[in-house]
Amino acid sequence: MEEKILIFGHKNPDTDTICSSIVKQILSEKDGKTNVKAVRLGNVNKETQFALDYVGIDAPDLIEKVEEGQKVILVDHNEFNQSADGIENAKIIGVVDHHRICNFQTTDPLYYTAKPYGCTATILYQDFIAKGIEIEKKEAILMASAIISDTLLLKSPTTTKHDEKALGELGRIAEIDINKYGLELLKAGTDLDDFSEKELINMDAKKFETKGVKCVIAQVNTVSIPDVLKRKEKLEAEIKSAITESGLNLFVLAITDILNSNSQIIALGDRTDIIEKSVKLEDNMALLEGVVSRKKQLLPMVENNI
Ligand code: MG
Ligand code: MG
Ligand code: MG
Repeated sequence: MEEKILIFGHKNPDTDTICSSIVKQILSEKDGKTNVKAVRLGNVNKETQFALDYVGIDAPDLIEKVEEGQKVILVDHNEFNQSADGIENAKIIGVVDHHRICNFQTTDPLYYTAKPYGCTATILYQDFIAKGIEIEKKEAILMASAIISDTLLLKSPTTTKHDEKALGELGRIAEIDINKYGLELLKAGTDLDDFSEKELINMDAKKFETKGVKCVIAQVNTVSIPDVLKRKEKLEAEIKSAITESGLNLFVLAITDILNSNSQIIALGDRTDIIEKSVKLEDNMALLEGVVSRKKQLLPMVENNI
């Protein structure tokens, strides 16, 4: 049997990464390419698990690294430092992504679909339409879940008209009330009680390096910021260990209130001055009103001030 092409999203997988990997596999198979297999690079979070349970499917298999020459398709990311270990020596044959292109290169030509939408699943939705391939209920729910997650139910500034259109259409196919399902899905991801502080700061963390400054911006969703802040001391201790372990200059943890669309940030490291160019930190914290998006709001705030 021919070796499978692996499809995966970024480390610390979110709902778009997991659902888009699975949907990309379904789309490829329906398009006659059957030698593909969705996999994941980390634990499935509770929000994603809610979506998988709703559809009644298992999470993709976990892989630790990719072997040299392994054929892969990347979804929901392209930066090598967010990808599988060994990605430098894998053979990337395709990318479907909605992020900036950064720290990315290949030796061979490839399929690359980049669109500045709110979610990878919106790009996949358009691929189904463009190829005239039927969207069934299962993949409709998976894509809808990804869009709800990435756009916080279309409230994030990353949302485009394409995401809105796709979500409306997918909700109709899936026969779900988007607002009701969406709130349940997002709330499932805010149940943080079972997680250690170390797990919380790693759950949705992305690493960046700009002009030699090493940063992590991590995000947790909640319906109560004060609830999460009860663990502030322990969270700070874990952030400090992460800074030491990885030689980071700045670690920003954004605690995002999904109901009111605000984020409380905790910023630590030897370069918190970068944050203080935008907002004054008190007790290592600041409340950022209307800020919910790492990509469109937090990342530019950090990078533009380095
Ligand atoms: Mg993602
Ligand atoms: Mg995404
Ligand atoms: Mg996200």
